[in-house]
Amino acid sequence: MVSVLQIPRTILYGQHSFQKVGEETSKLGNKALIISDRMMEKLMYVEECQHLLTQAGVSSVKYLDIDSEPTDTFVYEALDTLKAESCNVIIGLGGGSCIDTAKAVAVLGTNGGSISDYMNSRKIAQKSAVPLIAIPTTAGTGSEATDVTVITDIALDIKMMIKQPGFMPAAAIVDPVLTISSPKNITAATGIDALTHAIEAYLSRRAHPFTDSLALTAIGHIMESIRDAYHQPQNIKAKEKMSLAALQAGMAFSNASVCLVHGMSRPIGALFHVPHGISNAMLLPVVLEYSLEDCYERLADIGNIIFHDTQGLTKQAIAQKLIDEIKALCVELSIPNLKGWGIIEDLFLQSLKKMARDALASGSPGNNPKVPDEI
Ligand code: NAD
Repeated sequence: MVSVLQIPRTILYGQHSFQKVGEETSKLGNKALIISDRMMEKLMYVEECQHLLTQAGVSSVKYLDIDSEPTDTFVYEALDTLKAESCNVIIGLGGGSCIDTAKAVAVLGTNGGSISDYMNSRKIAQKSAVPLIAIPTTAGTGSEATDVTVITDIALDIKMMIKQPGFMPAAAIVDPVLTISSPKNITAATGIDALTHAIEAYLSRRAHPFTDSLALTAIGHIMESIRDAYHQPQNIKAKEKMSLAALQAGMAFSNASVCLVHGMSRPIGALFHVPHGISNAMLLPVVLEYSLEDCYERLADIGNIIFHDTQGLTKQAIAQKLIDEIKALCVELSIPNLKGWGIIEDLFLQSLKKMARDALASGSPGNNPKVPDEI
């Protein structure tokens, strides 16, 4: 098997790397569109970005109307700004929602069409996208280093997972200082999202040696630091490890794929408006239990990294201990279950067939160690 690793051309990582945004942007263009949200504006991150760009001789305009779990509407609005202002470089500043919108705009900006055209590779971006610098403010999605964008098609109520080389950002700037302001519930949800990426990348049928080492290192960092990052929001050492892990997990899953958790998580997100990290966290232990018989050896590899007392235990027992640890972690981080999120059971059951169909159609479940049947 030939292993392929595709990542952004440039990655700047470390405390205060955001200060380099002007210098990096000036290498790619002279008029930037900043795609971000109102929270980033309130935190003054947008203003600081514009200031750093001006210092480097780059002019900028902004589109700030993005909401969590972005829809195609935001993509088209931001695209209009890109065109009207003749911008030649894009900055996606914020959580995965801002970065994913920026990726879609970057590809549509040069290749045209609607974003749903690119679903399931019906249309492939042939021209290089408008150069994009992705700057995450959450430690979770890893979108800064993936060739994936997740956009909801409002008309069809489908959360589209679109994967093509064209969606890989030209550069990523990963500054853990930007995540200090993250509220505890966002730190919890995004941290479990990164953990899910790393675990699914390691269990994926398409995993390879590069992705294995990225995934295992990411899991080690997350299990070492997620509790501190959650309980002590100002703990920069813990935040630093979480940002690094999210980046590594993004690189791992972008090249190895995600599996059943993500396949099922997207329809739940689209139909019941559950944030991505939360729906992943609701599903992760259950899906691992379902898959256990076909992946206990790989789960035991993970367990051996994070536990120091596995001597004498069978691989099955270590795998079960890992699943129990993830369940305990979700409780400690106050991750709600479906009921806790306010989803009405009858409504959920009525939507089961559509959710199963959408999950299987996404392709992700096919990479799971145990592949589910259609109902
Ligand atoms: P998000 O971008 O939706 O942000 C959640 C909330 O947190 C928003 O209100 C935002 O303003 C706020 N926020 C973000 N950073 C903050 C900070 N530093 N301080 C204070 N508030 C902050 O959340 P997310 O989990 O980063 O992204 C979720 C989206 O990413 C989903 O649509 C999901 O499907 C997608 N996703 C994409 C990929 C990919 O590879 N492209 C991978 C996983 C998930």
